[in-house]
Amino acid sequence: MIAGVKGTRDLLPPETRVWNEIERVAREVFALHGFDEIRTPILEPTELFVRSVGESSDIVHKEMFTFLDAKDRSLTLRPENTAGVARAYVEHSLAQDGGVKKLYYIGPQFRREAPQKGRFREFRQIGAEVIGAADAAADAELLTMLFDFFARLGFLGLSISLNSVGTEDCRPAFLDAIRAHLSPHSEKLGPDDTRRLRENPLRVLDSKDPEVQALLVNAPRMLDHLDEASRVHHEELLGLLAACGIPYRIEPRLVRGLDYYTRTVFEVTAPGLGAQDALLGGGRYDRLISDLGGPKTPGIGFAIGEDRLVMALPEGFRERALAGLDPVAMIPLGPEDRPFALALARELRKEGIAVDLVSAAKGPKNGLRAAERKGARRAVLVGERERQQRVVLLKDLVNRTQEAIPMDEIARRLLALATAVADKGNPPP
Ligand code: AMP
Repeated sequence: MIAGVKGTRDLLPPETRVWNEIERVAREVFALHGFDEIRTPILEPTELFVRSVGESSDIVHKEMFTFLDAKDRSLTLRPENTAGVARAYVEHSLAQDGGVKKLYYIGPQFRREAPQKGRFREFRQIGAEVIGAADAAADAELLTMLFDFFARLGFLGLSISLNSVGTEDCRPAFLDAIRAHLSPHSEKLGPDDTRRLRENPLRVLDSKDPEVQALLVNAPRMLDHLDEASRVHHEELLGLLAACGIPYRIEPRLVRGLDYYTRTVFEVTAPGLGAQDALLGGGRYDRLISDLGGPKTPGIGFAIGEDRLVMALPEGFRERALAGLDPVAMIPLGPEDRPFALALARELRKEGIAVDLVSAAKGPKNGLRAAERKGARRAVLVGERERQQRVVLLKDLVNRTQEAIPMDEIARRLLALATAVADKGNPPP
C-alpha cells in the first residue's frame, strides 16, 4: 500500500458534498457582490513569495515546499493565494481594464507545518481580493460580504478581530518603540523571537510563547502610532462596520503572519477548533502590487481556511448538504428488466431526481443489500409483473415498507418525498 503524503488528506464522498455546497454558496454570495473567479497556478516562482509574503515570515522562512526544476529555477507550491493573484494582476495588466477588480479563488495551498488538529500541509482556502480601491468603504464591503457568506452557512455569533498595522510612514517609529520595549528582556526570547526581533519586530507580536506574550501586555500599540491618514481610515472603517451591524473587537496586537499588510488587518476565530481556531485572516495590502512591479495600486482581501470552516460548520448545514443528494436505488429484479430500469432511471433524472442504478446481477436481495450498504434510503424495484401492471415498487429501506406506485406517478412521488426531506432539514424560519 502506498499511503498519502504526511499532512495531506483525501476528501472522500459523501463528505465532498459538504465541501461542494460550501463552495456553491461562496460562488453565489461572491457573485452577488460583483466578484469574478480567478484560478492561478499552484506552482509559482519562489521569488514571488519572498518578495510578497516576506523573508521574515514563518511561511517563507521555514514552511514552503520549494524545489529546483531541471533548469535550476526555484519553484514553490503556493503557500497562499494573494501573491499569485497579485502576480497575475500585474502580468496581465488587469489594471488597464479600469476601475476596481474584484476577484475570488478557491483552491489548495501548501505549508510545511507540523500537522495537528485543523493544521495540514495541504489545506484549502476560499479567498477574495478587491484590487484598486483604497477607501475604508471597500474594507467594510468586503467584511459585510464575509458576514453574509457566514450567515448563509448558518454561523451565528462570529465577530471580527480588527487592528491597523499602519503604513511605511509610521511603522519605523513603532518598530523602534517595540525594540526599546523588548530589548531589556532579550534573554527571555527564544531563538525564533530573537530572529523576529532582529528582522521584523512586528512579527514578535505574533509570538505564541506565553512568556513573550506576558512581556507584550504593556507593549506600545500600533494604534497609538498611526499616521493621520491611517488613523482616519481606521476610524472610518469602525464607523461603517457599526452602521452595518458587523460585530468587531479591536485586537491591538493582531499583526498577521505576512509582510505585505498595511493598515487594516483582521481575523475571525471560531469556537470548537482547539488551538488552531483562526477561521480566516485578511487585510489591506496597498504596496503589494507595486512591490511586484505593477502600478501603485491599493488592495484588500481575505482567505478563509476551508478545512477549518468544514470543522466548525453550524449544526444542520452538513446534514442538509448530505441529504440533498441522496440517490434513489433503481433495482431491476431480473436481467430482462434492465432495459426498462435503465430507461426509467433516465426519465427520473430528467425530472431532477438522483438515481443510482444498482446491478441485481446476483439477484434482487443482493441488489437491495448493495443499495443499503451505499446508504440509500429508498429503492425502486421493477420486475416483469410490475411492468405488465404498469407499476413500480417503492421501497423505504429505513422503515422497511413497500408500496406499488403507478409508473406515471413515481416521479411526482419521489419529488414530493425529496421536498419533505429538504423541508425537515431546514432551520426554523
Ligand atoms: P493565512 O493565509 O496565514 O492568513 O491563513 C488564512 C487562513 O487559512 C487561516 O485563518 C486558516 O483558517 C487557514 N490556514 C492557514 N494555514 C493552515 C494550515 N496549515 N492548515 C489548515 N488551514 C490553514
